[in-house]
Amino acid sequence: MLIGIDDTDSPQGMCTTYLGAVLARRLIREHMRVREARLVRLNPNVTFKTRGNAAIMLDAEGDPDRAFAIACALVEERADFSCDNTNPGVAVVEKRPDRAFYEKAVKDFCEIDEAVAILDGAGAWYKGWKNRRGLIGATAAVASVLADRTSEILVYREPQRFGTPRSVDRASLFAAEAATFPHTWDTVDITNDVVVCVPHTPDPVLFGIRGESPHWVMTARRMIRSEPPALEQIWVTNQGTDAHLVDGKIGALREGLSYRVRGTVAEVPKTGTGGHISFMIRDGDPAVRCMAYEPTKNFREIVRQLVPGDAVIVCGSYKKGSINLEKMKIVSLGKAETVRPPLCISCSKRMTSDGKGKGWKCKKCGARADAPDVQESSRTLETGWYEVPPTARRHLAKPLCRGEPEL
Ligand code: ATP
Repeated sequence: MLIGIDDTDSPQGMCTTYLGAVLARRLIREHMRVREARLVRLNPNVTFKTRGNAAIMLDAEGDPDRAFAIACALVEERADFSCDNTNPGVAVVEKRPDRAFYEKAVKDFCEIDEAVAILDGAGAWYKGWKNRRGLIGATAAVASVLADRTSEILVYREPQRFGTPRSVDRASLFAAEAATFPHTWDTVDITNDVVVCVPHTPDPVLFGIRGESPHWVMTARRMIRSEPPALEQIWVTNQGTDAHLVDGKIGALREGLSYRVRGTVAEVPKTGTGGHISFMIRDGDPAVRCMAYEPTKNFREIVRQLVPGDAVIVCGSYKKGSINLEKMKIVSLGKAETVRPPLCISCSKRMTSDGKGKGWKCKKCGARADAPDVQESSRTLETGWYEVPPTARRHLAKPLCRGEPEL
């Protein structure tokens, strides 16, 4: 059977993955076998999410009636019902529903009624609390088929420490990254000297290590020194796989979906207040804005070097009219030109403009010119893929250390 759970946490605490890890142990105590613990991240642009829009699925052998009762009891015991935005859902199926619902939940938006119809059709055991929105994630989790998969070991805290500062040895995290990258990633951000894998929220997670396989996340995990953990679970995940991206065309992008879009840079990037960088790309008409926000740090240095005519493929979520960049391929470089007023040949002085479209005039001798002085400048930027740093990476975004995206 497949057991799906979602929406049990709130900004004040809990975490659906923790509940899943506890459930796995309760099922094992009841002599059920847990074959796989899966963590799926769904559309990162869903507004109801608490943090990373995660849902979990346990693939287990045993009595579905009993497993459903245990899962529901655990949700009632541990979910944070006090939060308006916590609407848990539990679903148990004996056969995986059509994967199409998972695909829609990771890439698009779903309705609660769609999930309920699928669960009814599958003869599922299911329960939704409050507005039952968690049934969407629970259904997507049991319907999931992972074309590409990665691992994450999540290490959970002792309950009496929840909400207190975490104690994880910083040097051991950097050492674990040095020993296991690129087979693990996003433990730390070396360029920005920041620990990435230890959350700051009051949830039960102490730290999480992401990597290619259980072997690699365990290798890194063994190197990490910390406060005593209560529980550890290796999850099979869709994190770091770009499962959220769809091919998109400028002019036909939908709000809240995440895209891979081709285009040509249409204007010089502008730096706005707060250090956010924006530039327009087009592929014919119309154009679309791309954003590299301040948290994307050094990635912005690449973006700043773009010039009109550069051909790019950008990846990111389309929100409020902009593509928020997760990564970008510079396919080919346009010509970088510096345009200055023309030089007066007699006086060796730069001329001054006579107004828009009216040419230039030498103030000293009165000589006139119609065209500016255009010089091609050399580019230091190289073609290829560039990505935001680990501190700014979305759960679903495939890091370049896993290989370049297939187009
Ligand atoms: P948790 O640890 O509780 O899972 P979270 O940050 O992952 O926290 P949730 O609290 O689960 O976020 O909130 C996300 C809500 O959005 C859930 O109720 C889930 O069922 C729902 N949801 C997920 N994906 C979609 C989607 N594509 N369309 C509509 N609703 C969705």
